Amino acid sequence: MNNKWENNIRRVVPYTPGEQPKIKDIIKLNTNENPFPPSPMVTKVIEEFESDRLRIYPDTDSTVLVNALAKRYNVKPSNVFVGVGSDDVLSMAFMTFFNSDKPIVFPDITYSFYDVWADVYRIPYKTFPLDENFRINADDYKCENGGIVIPNPNAPTGVLESTEFFEEIVKANPDSVVIVDEAYIDFGGKSCIELCEKYENLLVVQTFSKSRSMAGMRIGFAIGSEKLIKYMNDVKFSVNSYTMNPLSQYCGAAAVEDEEYFKKTVNEIIAVREYSKEKLTALGFTFPDSYSNFIFASHKSKPAKEIFEALKERKIFVRYWNKDRINNHLRITIGTREQMDKMFKALEEILK
Ligand SMILES: *Cc1c(COP(=O)(O)O)cnc(C)c1O
Repeated sequence: MNNKWENNIRRVVPYTPGEQPKIKDIIKLNTNENPFPPSPMVTKVIEEFESDRLRIYPDTDSTVLVNALAKRYNVKPSNVFVGVGSDDVLSMAFMTFFNSDKPIVFPDITYSFYDVWADVYRIPYKTFPLDENFRINADDYKCENGGIVIPNPNAPTGVLESTEFFEEIVKANPDSVVIVDEAYIDFGGKSCIELCEKYENLLVVQTFSKSRSMAGMRIGFAIGSEKLIKYMNDVKFSVNSYTMNPLSQYCGAAAVEDEEYFKKTVNEIIAVREYSKEKLTALGFTFPDSYSNFIFASHKSKPAKEIFEALKERKIFVRYWNKDRINNHLRITIGTREQMDKMFKALEEILK
């Protein structure tokens, strides 16, 4: 039943985001959102924002936000690119940097948006399997390629690699752009940002969605050499120059400037994560050690799918993929201590 005009359509199988259930009183541990509200400084900006400001177009350069990020990460504003969530930043980076006939490369188990962008932009790609402990083999990435993208910590495994590991990969690939997607780096990892000074072809991408509690505001950013950032901005300004609205720009800057709140909430999540590791182990789960705000766990006797459904019946949402190699794992976002305790209680019943 194909009409002729449909032959010229750019067809894609879209990315499937985690469920955002409409029902009330749920415990939502399925999309790695932060259980704490954004910084009170963000609330203040929202309360004081004058709607008349919406009459005019936003600052295309997002100057307040770019400057705040440059200051926080000790780089120049010309080293910072901002976008509407890191999905926007990554999508722009794919479009800008991955134009080779050679395949781009990334792990087989990873953020499931990479193959979607590759498809939509018609970028050939190849994946390398993680080993049985979900570790990435750096040697795999010393191959001919049209670009590299790897999350650190990896998602949905939570496994962290060192900056030395990434330096080794970047060093071996002077002919392509290497993207490190650091969506979860603030939960205990060391950022590759410091390597950007040394390697012109390294782009580090981060987001406000996880560690800064602002998934709904859609702010992401990249740090890289002046050259990389300029190339990205040229593409961005050729697609849509007014991407980020002024409220987001000001709220983003306020969040970055409130370092104390950031540290406090991130440390609380890390503490609850470490506590959750003990509880899950006691319940018979195994998991790779997580340096993120989630744990990727498998139970020794009960199939993940059954646990997933049983939790859902109790209005506790975690993430499950019916995908090869990971179909016996659950990705559990770290919530508040109270939310986690409710989940552990439910798990005790389910596993009895
Ligand atoms: C959450 C996430 C992102 C995207 O987050 P945004 O909300 O678009 O900033 C990117 N990469 C990974 C690995 C993620 O988990």
